[in-house]
Amino acid sequence: MLGRAAFIVISFYMVLFSQSVRAEWFSRDGTVMGTTARVEIWTTDSAQAQPLVELAFKELRRIDHLLSPYKPASALSRVNQSAGDPVGVQISPEFFHLLQRALAFSVETAGRFDITFASVGHRYNFRDKSRPTVEEMTPLLDAIDYRHIQLLTASSQVILRHPKTRIDLGGIAKGYAVERAASLLQRQGVQYAQVTAGGDTRFIGDRRGRPWRVGIRDPRQEGTTVAVLPLEDEAMSTSGDYERFFIEDGQRYHHIINPKTGLSAEGVQSVTVIGPDATVTDALSTSVFVMGIDHGLRLINSRSAYEAVVVGRTGSLFFSNGLSKQTD
Ligand code: ADP
Ligand code: MG
Repeated sequence: MLGRAAFIVISFYMVLFSQSVRAEWFSRDGTVMGTTARVEIWTTDSAQAQPLVELAFKELRRIDHLLSPYKPASALSRVNQSAGDPVGVQISPEFFHLLQRALAFSVETAGRFDITFASVGHRYNFRDKSRPTVEEMTPLLDAIDYRHIQLLTASSQVILRHPKTRIDLGGIAKGYAVERAASLLQRQGVQYAQVTAGGDTRFIGDRRGRPWRVGIRDPRQEGTTVAVLPLEDEAMSTSGDYERFFIEDGQRYHHIINPKTGLSAEGVQSVTVIGPDATVTDALSTSVFVMGIDHGLRLINSRSAYEAVVVGRTGSLFFSNGLSKQTD
């Protein structure tokens, strides 16, 4: 369920190594930010495992409370409620900085990544299979424009200049959250871990001597992978048209919105981006999804630390330069 406040533990610690050596892998799954989250760590001190895993989940939940568009009291909701108010809203430095980063992606992608997509995006409900009519959507398209967001650095205020503008950080918040949670673990001395929320994962270290091996799923066949990436100390984000969607009259309506049209972005089935920072891989995977194969891969190729695998409209695979070299 989107934006669910409750945090439900659906499994508990899994001891993969022998108790006697007291150095083990521990993991816990839960629901945060309306999606499945997983924290897995290796530690030599099993008494520390539970507090460390809880520390990571607490951070994920903290960011969910800050940025959820579905919790009326969240800082993000307060900003949305202020749309059209010339005074704006004072926000925390953390939220302010994340908005700055989101706007930088809008500039870099010429508006393909745009958190004001929500002006129309919030009119979709993928569980109820409902979407805005053309009549509802047309007058809202003007409200989609990141330039309606004004950030006042000196006072840490944000103003939404258009009364119908709404923002949603769904394209970057989970990446930010897993990056933050992973860095908290790292500061506590954890050397091997993964933190996942939905399609965004941050890996710390490797799996003790071998890389993490992460499958990219076939967007049209659950349980089947189209590629496997070996990763160490890296982030990975996947954006797909199969996460939140419904099909009506043969047309697939999903949660990644082309800001120019207010309709679901077409042209690819999924985009996976890997690189050092999960906040960036998250925003880039959503961006490349909207930009399509050519423009999207050009964007990735302009950033030397990031690589991408795109599953195209018919299921063919496309790789960024760094990955194609490896597969030659
Ligand atoms: P998820 O991990 O939820 O599948 P993605 O990284 O694929 O997330 O991003 C999809 C989410 O991004 C949507 O649910 C929505 O909140 C947000 N979003 C949709 N379209 C855009 C866009 N054009 N620019 C920025 N964010 C978007
Ligand atoms: Mg994303």
